[in-house]
Amino acid sequence: QVRTAAEWRERGRRVTVGIAGCMAQHDGGRLFETYRKDVDLVFGPDQVPEVGALVERAERERVLENDFREDYRFVQEVAPSFQNRVSAFVTIQKGCDNKCTFCIVPATRGPELSRPPELILDEVRACVARGAREVTLLGQNVNSYGLKSGGFPSFAQLLYRIAEVPGLERIRYTSPHPRDMGPDVIRAYRDLPQLADHVHLPVQSGSSRVLRRMKRFYSRERYLELVAALREARPGLALSTDIITGFPGETEEDFQQTMSLLEEVRFDASFSFFYSPRPGTPALRLGGEEVPVAERKARLMRFQERQRAIQVEKNRALEGRRVRVLVEGPSRWDPAVVCGRSSDFRMVNFPGGLDLVGRTVEVLITRGFTNSLRGELVGA
Ligand code: SF4
Repeated sequence: QVRTAAEWRERGRRVTVGIAGCMAQHDGGRLFETYRKDVDLVFGPDQVPEVGALVERAERERVLENDFREDYRFVQEVAPSFQNRVSAFVTIQKGCDNKCTFCIVPATRGPELSRPPELILDEVRACVARGAREVTLLGQNVNSYGLKSGGFPSFAQLLYRIAEVPGLERIRYTSPHPRDMGPDVIRAYRDLPQLADHVHLPVQSGSSRVLRRMKRFYSRERYLELVAALREARPGLALSTDIITGFPGETEEDFQQTMSLLEEVRFDASFSFFYSPRPGTPALRLGGEEVPVAERKARLMRFQERQRAIQVEKNRALEGRRVRVLVEGPSRWDPAVVCGRSSDFRMVNFPGGLDLVGRTVEVLITRGFTNSLRGELVGA
């Protein structure tokens, strides 16, 4: 891109080149120097709300702005989002105060900051007024929402308040931290039918020893207790997770613990990766035997193969059952087919017209695949 911009400049076009985002936050000074001739502007995520003013300034001088801002404003306050979608995303928090040893987020997104509840509620109402039936609350560690901000509701209290917004059918959120999954959030699964039948609860490893080295502050046993409590509060709740294989010092026995956790919980889906070192993260200084890359990848394959098999089993078990689907839009593959999600976050495709978009309909499941279901419309 930088080369393309240079060519445009040679042809006399006025071009401003900027680098933005997490890498610009983490490594902005180096990028600014390395691309001294070609890059006019480098800025981090905290400066996104001021992007217009920054670009204007960069037309006069080179600009590097990547400090964390104490007066951070959520971008939606500066430019209200005009999401015109059935399922909308609403940011409730940015940054993270945890120090998971593998993670670069604290260095790139800065300290945790919760957005004022009134502004969140205003945005949820605005999304519903524009046709949203579902919102997903976003943050790096959503369930520690409000803990640092005096007078803010807790995450659970925020859920109860959002559930009162008329016309909102479903509430999702991502990602919570198992350490902050308190009894009040679990109770909300009993009380609030609007809370979707799905939780994404990142576990990272099934070995308490590895979890300690990751500084996750829960054990395998604690995680399993949470899963049991959530499933008791909401029978049939679907669970997905994040997994890292081959974290430094992970032995075959540790990995077996991850595999046995998978058998015990039988996750409905997972995002799994082999460990990849991130510059500046504490994991680089942990010591302990490094797992060779080939072994990290081999463990990942073993995990993913079993996860896929479980997903297929679970999705096939739904054949012949009726599920309620919030229709989101046309399928990418077939204009005669629409798609949407069940409350437990399964993607469902079925023949139907665009008049169904935004409606919650009943669909008879005819086929279960690894990552989706196919069905037939049986009722609105
Ligand atoms: Fe925070 Fe999540 Fe990163 Fe841990 S993994 S430091 S909780 S963003």
